Amino acid sequence: MPGSPQAQHGTARSRAAASGPSGPLPREAGTVIVGGGLAGVELATALAEQGAEDVVLLEAGPGSDLAHIHLAHPQAAATEIVFAPERDPYFHGPGGPGAPHYTGISGLRRRLGGRSLYWHGVVLPLEDWALHPPGWPAEIVAELTTGVGGAPSWYDRVTEQLTDWSGGGLWDPAQPARTSIGGQEFRALPRACRRRPGTDRWEAYTALDAWRGPDGDVTPPAGVRVHCDTEVLAVDVRGGRARGVLVRLGDGDVSRIAAHTVVLSAGTVESTRLAALALTDAGALPSPRLGGLADHIVQGFVVRLPADRLPPPGSYHLPTDPVLRSYLRVDVHDDGPGRALLDVRVTGEQLPNEGSVVECEPSDEPFPRASCRTGLLPEDHKMISGQRDLLRDFWAATARELGEPSAPLEFTGYGDTERDNTRVLPDRTRSQSAGRPETWSSLLGTEDHEGGSLRSGGCSTPGTPSPRCPVFTPRARLSSPASARPTPP
Ligand SMILES: Cc1cc2nc3c(=O)[nH]c(=O)nc-3n(C[C@H](O)[C@H](O)[C@H](O)COP(=O)(O)OP(=O)(O)OC[C@H]3O[C@@H](n4cnc5c(N)ncnc54)[C@H](O)[C@@H]3O)c2cc1C
Repeated sequence: MPGSPQAQHGTARSRAAASGPSGPLPREAGTVIVGGGLAGVELATALAEQGAEDVVLLEAGPGSDLAHIHLAHPQAAATEIVFAPERDPYFHGPGGPGAPHYTGISGLRRRLGGRSLYWHGVVLPLEDWALHPPGWPAEIVAELTTGVGGAPSWYDRVTEQLTDWSGGGLWDPAQPARTSIGGQEFRALPRACRRRPGTDRWEAYTALDAWRGPDGDVTPPAGVRVHCDTEVLAVDVRGGRARGVLVRLGDGDVSRIAAHTVVLSAGTVESTRLAALALTDAGALPSPRLGGLADHIVQGFVVRLPADRLPPPGSYHLPTDPVLRSYLRVDVHDDGPGRALLDVRVTGEQLPNEGSVVECEPSDEPFPRASCRTGLLPEDHKMISGQRDLLRDFWAATARELGEPSAPLEFTGYGDTERDNTRVLPDRTRSQSAGRPETWSSLLGTEDHEGGSLRSGGCSTPGTPSPRCPVFTPRARLSSPASARPTPP
């Protein structure tokens, strides 16, 4: 990554030099990347580094305003943008009949940089229990974890890259690297974040920084052309193969770009919609419907406590028993003189199932929208109850350790909209009685969790014969995103 961290801070004004209507839309390309978020921009950079000369990245949103929200706005305003997405002109939600899940803060931010301009930068490696076939083909696991042919692993390379980017370390130097709470040893939570010197503003890593010049403007590398305000409506499938894409430009015109390869990186729901339509056109699916949609299952509690026996403010984490497919995260926040807010959450993986789907309802629309439905397997319910036991035990041990009365944790139904992750917002916790923990659970499909539907290394629904794979979807996720709450590092 070129340049010093300070020189690369984006400004609210920074824009992509090659965005929007500035260049004519090409009629053909070697590779078309659909979506200019974390995955799409990172992939374009990697292809350019490997000498690709004809990459076209298509982004539905605009290419101006390329700063992370916590750099562009004070904490309270940035929090509001995250939790009141209807006030953000870039928010785009799929909606649909899946209530309570895949509604509300479900969707993404349509602008170049995508959700990398909103995220918290938590970068935890996937745990060993998660990395097994068929979800994770053995060769990808080897590349990721051990490296192949003497090359460093992807994790090592990315950790080095992000450490350089953040200016030296992946967590706030003000917090200890290890700490003990409730009788358990926690580690600092790794986050790819950095502060703007001399301010309380901060930003999380965005792949756009590799394209930023000293003035903050963003210019794609040689071999990559970026077109913003260009929405991909469908993959153009002919003879069972992807031959390009159909796009709608800012003025509403629909146009076609021929391409040798099409890569979908438009977020889980939109990439799945495009893949389902393409696979239906290719004859590999009877109708545009793909199952296997899975997200994180996250629950937690918040409690106000005396600060003196808690670790210093910061974010800490701990893996759990692999049977629970989860990890535990604790955040300690300042809560006024001598007081702290303890914010505890456990994040696990929903299992993919065929009742959790992205589908396009039959309609007269040439390019139908997607809707999502989700269902939980008995194993998921077991995990939900195991997570609750873990939280109860942890709270009981912590209260004992602090000499606090251990008011029991009380949970309501999973997905209760009255007790969702907005419970942890400051205006809610301020009115909470000291020492009394409030529990919450996060809805499935929220934009700060990365769901998935298509398996790595494959593109068809299980049990369906795969045509010669016409479309590819990269996985953007570097980590298990833990937080539904915008906490500064
Ligand atoms: C507040 C918040 C906090 C988060 N914290 C964390 C965290 O700490 N750790 C973590 O790992 N993850 C976190 N996440 C999730 C993380 O940001 C996402 O998983 C990641 O950015 C997804 O990258 P992506 O490229 O797949 O999707 P996106 O970044 O959403 O990019 C998709 C892009 O595709 C574009 N697009 C969509 N449809 C089309 C179309 N039809 N045609 C053309 N373009 C299209 C969109 O405009 C967008 O720019 C957080 C997210 C949020 C919002």
